[in-house]
Amino acid sequence: MTEQKQDYAIQVQQGSYIAPAVTVKDALMRYQAMKEFVDGILKPKVDYGIIPGTSDKPTLLKPGAEKLASFFGLRPVFTVNERIDDWTGESRGGEPFFLRDYKCQLYRAGELIGEGCGSCNSWESKYRYRNANRKCPVCGKETIIKGKAEYGGGWICFAKKGGCGAKFDANDPQITGQETGKIKNPDIFDQVNTIDKMAQKRALIAAVLIATNASDYFTQDIEDFVDAEFAEMHEQETEPTKEAKKAKTPELDLTPVPFDGESKMSLELAETEVNSKGEKYGDIPTDKLTHMFNTMSKLENKTEDHIRKMEAIKTILQARAMDAA
Ligand SMILES: [Zn+2]
Repeated sequence: MTEQKQDYAIQVQQGSYIAPAVTVKDALMRYQAMKEFVDGILKPKVDYGIIPGTSDKPTLLKPGAEKLASFFGLRPVFTVNERIDDWTGESRGGEPFFLRDYKCQLYRAGELIGEGCGSCNSWESKYRYRNANRKCPVCGKETIIKGKAEYGGGWICFAKKGGCGAKFDANDPQITGQETGKIKNPDIFDQVNTIDKMAQKRALIAAVLIATNASDYFTQDIEDFVDAEFAEMHEQETEPTKEAKKAKTPELDLTPVPFDGESKMSLELAETEVNSKGEKYGDIPTDKLTHMFNTMSKLENKTEDHIRKMEAIKTILQARAMDAA
C-alpha cells in the first residue's frame, strides 16, 4: 500500500474515541457498491416498495433481500428460536395460537457475517381477525348496504357494488343477525404455513439489512414503516449518511382526512384497532392518526388491513371533530 496516511471514520462519544471499524475509503467504496447495486439491479415494486410522493426510505422486500444476500455472497441458515402450536387453545381460553420465531444467520465462506431474528404469530391482527361485512342471503356477496330512508329504508344488496339488488326488511334477522366488523378469523388453521413463511421472511430481511448495512437505504416492512416513523431511532453504529439523517426527521403529513358521509364502522370498534406497538387507536393523538392515514393512503397495494385501519382512523377523527364543534 502506497498511502501511509489513512483517514478513519471515527465517532466521538463523551470525549473518548471509539476504535474505527473501517477506513473512510473502505466505507465509501462499500457505499458506492451498494448504491450501484440498488440503482442498477434492484427493481422497484419487485425488490423494494416505495411510498409514492414521499422521500421516505423504501421497504426491502423478500426478492430484494435474496438478491442482496447473493450479491454479497451470503448464505442464510435458519434456526428455530421458538415454536408454539396450540391447536385447541387449551392454555389460551380456547383460542388457537401459533407462533414461529426464527434466527437467520448469514455466512460467507464459513464466517458468520450477520444475523437477525423474525417472528410471526396468529394473534397479529391481520391473521387473528377479518373484517366481515353483511352478506346477502340471496347471492352470498358482501354487498349489503342500508337503504336510504327516502327510498323506503331497509337493507339492499347494492348492485353498484356487484350485488343482486335484493331488498330486505329493516328488521330482517337474516341481515341483522349477522356478526359484522372485526371478527375472529374462522380459517386460522389455513394461516399456519403463511405465519411460518412470514417469520422466516422477517428474519431474512432483518439479517440482510444488518449484514449488508442496507438500512441506510431500506426499512423493513410497510407495517413497521408506518409505525417506525414515531418510534425512537436506534443509535447508529457508524456516522449516519445524509440520506439517513434526512430519513430521521420525517415531517407529519397533516393533510386533512376526507370525510365522506356516514362511517361504516362503529367508533367503539375503531378505537380498539391497534398499531404494531399495541397502542389503541383511541389513545393515539389526532396528528399522528392523520399522518398514519395519509401514509397508508399513499400505498399502491393496500391490504384489507390497511383499508380497515384507514376506515378506523376516519371514524375516530370524525367523532373527535364533532366533539370539538
Ligand atoms: Zn345479493
